[in-house]
Amino acid sequence: MKTKQDLKASDKQFIWHPFTQMQDWERSAPIIISEGKGCFLRDLDGKWYLDGVSSLWVNVHGHRKKEIDRAIKAQVNKISHSTLLGLSNEPAILLAERLVKLLNAPLPAPHYARVFYSDNGSTAVEVALKMAFQYWRHTGVETKNSFLCLNNAYHGDTLGAVSVGGIDMFHKAFGPLLFRTFRAPSPFCYRCELQRHHPECGCACLGPMEEILKSHHQEIAGLIIEPLVQAAGGMIMSPPGYLKGVRELCTKYDVLMIADEVATGFGRTGRMFACEHEDVLPDIVCLSKGLTGGYLPLAATMTTDRIYSAFLGEFRDLKTFFHGHSFTGNPLGCAAALACLEIFEKERVVERLQPKVLLLKKLLGEMNGLAHVGDTRSRGLMAAVELVLDKGTREPYSWEDRIGWKVALKAREKGLLIRPLGNIIVIMPPLSITKKDLARLMSVIKESIEEVT
Ligand code: PMP
Repeated sequence: MKTKQDLKASDKQFIWHPFTQMQDWERSAPIIISEGKGCFLRDLDGKWYLDGVSSLWVNVHGHRKKEIDRAIKAQVNKISHSTLLGLSNEPAILLAERLVKLLNAPLPAPHYARVFYSDNGSTAVEVALKMAFQYWRHTGVETKNSFLCLNNAYHGDTLGAVSVGGIDMFHKAFGPLLFRTFRAPSPFCYRCELQRHHPECGCACLGPMEEILKSHHQEIAGLIIEPLVQAAGGMIMSPPGYLKGVRELCTKYDVLMIADEVATGFGRTGRMFACEHEDVLPDIVCLSKGLTGGYLPLAATMTTDRIYSAFLGEFRDLKTFFHGHSFTGNPLGCAAALACLEIFEKERVVERLQPKVLLLKKLLGEMNGLAHVGDTRSRGLMAAVELVLDKGTREPYSWEDRIGWKVALKAREKGLLIRPLGNIIVIMPPLSITKKDLARLMSVIKESIEEVT
């Protein structure tokens, strides 16, 4: 049996951590998580931490939620994995039916028809891009070979997802490997690319998007967007009406709308899906993260009958969607997802979220007075505090200062785990967090900002 010290040493010797400068990591004192309960995580040394970012935005109902634990164990006792290529399995069938009903539930008539499974957010996006591209081929349109995406977008780390990403620090290095895209401004009111002000601007950032579509719609298969919140780009929240405007432009110029709800889905924005806020119906929706309650890697790309039926034909027509992964439709993941959705319904999670949403807004508002807080923003239980060097000019801290990271380390000493995005402190606790723990989370962040800036 390895001791705590052995494990720490082996971690540094054998693991290459994601999005991590390993030279820093090798010099640091890593936290090794040994168990979780509700919104808390315990490390090997026995210290408990509040999970302030839901274990990277995935956990929804808390850790060790008994209904999900039970569903996975019951499924293990039947079978853990069988393929969806040429076979099917019960949890995958039940989940697909449930997801289609769930997405159609708020609508007067069914819009979504099919679920294509994969393993993670990036693959859900790859599937969407390939599906959109191939759809046009099947309908006889040969020119739609590109995509329209947004500055500051993040859709995952596989090369297709990186091609439609817009975060230079993460994506620029891979430039020579990426396919060509068109780029529209990010709907970032605090740092507006057009130097305009909302609401007087009337969502002026839709103007350049329309210009691109007007000139290039024959080349554009689809527009991909993180609805309402560009999450990894810095928790950038689009102004009211923007998303609806995007949908209208996609319809006007006959471009498929792909909504990447990987981060925003499953209650995070205060509705089950972000698109519901503006009654927007994308042609393709990507889901992952919270789908299994944050327990297991599973993703779903959902689409309409219009797109699905374009892929039907004789085998020799080669209209088949040649895409699939070893773990597509994994029964354990699907069983976890079914239990997760059952909890949403039984515990009326989204309805009961509203007092927490208001509390978070109020506590965020109280941070606006801090000397180096330039902006605070939230949508549902997704929130951000943007730290600035100079509040008057909005001058950011230099990225090399790693100010967000310093705040996160301070919070860690106080028993809170958060992961910033540059100068932006991200707040995204499990939806099951209590009001008391939410207040504690916010007071630790406030104290940490005060002590570091
Ligand atoms: N899309 C969005 C909007 C995301 O926030 C993320 C991950 N943070 C992804 C896609 C990629 O998901 P994954 O890390 O599971 O590949």
